[in-house]
Amino acid sequence: MAFELPKLGYAYDALEPHIDARTMEIHHSKHHQGYTNNLNNAIAGTELEGKSINDILGNLDMNNGAVRNNGGGFYNHSLFWEVMNPEDRGYLSGDLKDAIEAAYGSKDEFIAAFSKAAATQFGSGWAWLCVHKGGKVEVCSTPNQDNPLMPGVTCGGTPILGLDVWEHAYYLNYQNRRPDYIKAFFNVVNWNEVEKRYAEAK
Ligand code: MN
Repeated sequence: MAFELPKLGYAYDALEPHIDARTMEIHHSKHHQGYTNNLNNAIAGTELEGKSINDILGNLDMNNGAVRNNGGGFYNHSLFWEVMNPEDRGYLSGDLKDAIEAAYGSKDEFIAAFSKAAATQFGSGWAWLCVHKGGKVEVCSTPNQDNPLMPGVTCGGTPILGLDVWEHAYYLNYQNRRPDYIKAFFNVVNWNEVEKRYAEAK
């Protein structure tokens, strides 16, 4: 079974004004579709064909550039769409709130740490909130389409919140103002989904 571009759970314009419809449409229908197609081409006829994306990334040969870039791109964007929502987002609560406060002191200090990781990732990449076995959470960033599931990548653990800081994610609306885009992202974070992923991963 080839990988398929996941459908968005909301309309392209649903995250406006924080993320504009044109950016969402190009990002999902062109960029994410491209990673999906290129991943399928890269694994066709190899031992990776038919494996889950988590299995592929968790056991990745980091020298396999096509699978690293496109498998990462496929996974990262699939997560990204789901950790945003125009409505019914919930709020930071429960065990995840406790874990974030244990690691960062408060929700605001966590947002500051995550925003700093996103703002200071040089060039293209992602900022992440990861959870380690046992429930401890950690913020990190990765270049390009790498992610914490891959062998030897920065914080490790399971990513439960991710922010795309490639220019294609914000340039149409924010141009060079990446910090404004990062700030806007926190208006559309789907805390219900992040909390669900935390419970599954810890
Ligand atoms: Mn992207």
